[in-house]
Amino acid sequence: MKAVTFTGTRQVRVADVAEPKVQEPHEAIVRINTAAICGSDLHLYHGRLTGVEPGTIIGHEYVGIVEEVGSQVSSIRPGDRVVGSFHTACGHCWYCRQKLYSQCVHCCLFGCGTRFGNLPGTQAELARIPHADFTLHPVPDDLSDEQALFAGDILSTAYFCAERGNIQPGDTVAVVGCGPVGLCVIQCAKVFGAARVIALDMVPARLQMAKDLGADPVDVGENPIKAVKALTGNRGADVVLEAVGSEATLKLAFQLARGFGTISAAGVFTEEALPFPAGRSFAKDLTLRVGMANVPAQFHAVLELLRAGRIDPTMLITHTLSLNEAPYGYDLFDRKEAVKVILKV
Ligand code: NAD
Ligand code: ZN
Repeated sequence: MKAVTFTGTRQVRVADVAEPKVQEPHEAIVRINTAAICGSDLHLYHGRLTGVEPGTIIGHEYVGIVEEVGSQVSSIRPGDRVVGSFHTACGHCWYCRQKLYSQCVHCCLFGCGTRFGNLPGTQAELARIPHADFTLHPVPDDLSDEQALFAGDILSTAYFCAERGNIQPGDTVAVVGCGPVGLCVIQCAKVFGAARVIALDMVPARLQMAKDLGADPVDVGENPIKAVKALTGNRGADVVLEAVGSEATLKLAFQLARGFGTISAAGVFTEEALPFPAGRSFAKDLTLRVGMANVPAQFHAVLELLRAGRIDPTMLITHTLSLNEAPYGYDLFDRKEAVKVILKV
């Protein structure tokens, strides 16, 4: 079968690889029909993620049809159309029983190498899905593959980030980063009651998309702290939602939040440690939340918001390519010339 593989920094290749087989009774094989490239794929594309060996099948955003299930799989059948979480969850450990699936003791990430369970990715014709009952979710008939795909990663991530921002109705929310995740965060902040969303980035086309979603765009190159103060009675944002994952944006988030404000970060920090402004946080009574999305816990809410039309992430899709064109898609996305790249398999 064909699959997208990582071959070296800024190099991916569509290769012929062996078809996956069910190895454990809790697994399923899914025939992927729609995949996508995520900002998290860029971390490994840039060579920042250790443990991704050349030849690793990458990707973790996917919708497809269940082809085969192991003997323990009970909620998913062959022929079902499913969306999958980017991380697996067993459903039975202590964390899963509390619905804290992203801390599952058996949690693996698709296509992220040996540090995350060495599970082959899903930018491929077929994928092996561990713990299929909890990792996969049926797609409602009235949603397209493209809509549902967002529930498996970035829309659930955005929902999780906004939820953990503790937004109160009427709040002013600053969203740092207007990539696909940030643009989903803007939509989710409104679902949680934000009166005003200020969107920060430096890419004009992305700031324009944020504006189209009703946010006030601010170019980070032009004194963003002053701009946010001017829009918030000189106080700063009630809530800052970070959607980049860099030292610069974490620092900016601390500067943008008002006293007693909350920062919720969805960006993946690939560094082991970053400077923490302890003094500023103490003086400002800040709350900081960071973390990987708990996707199986969000599936229901996110899919219902999509069905009701409250959120529409398909406006982010700028390119629909074939799986064979994945190397071109990665290059475009890396150069910020694409927002969301869909790969039809
Ligand atoms: P992306 O790379 O397309 O978007 C990042 C955006 O941040 C870009 O538009 C870029 O111009 C902007 N940016 C960079 N530096 C900035 C700065 N100093 N100030 C303001 N904006 C800046 O990627 P994406 O798909 O939107 O993903 C964003 C982040 O979310 C990545 O780190 C990704 O790994 C992470 N992510 C996390 C989870 C999770 O579970 N927490 C899930 C999916 C993605
Ligand atoms: Zn992702």
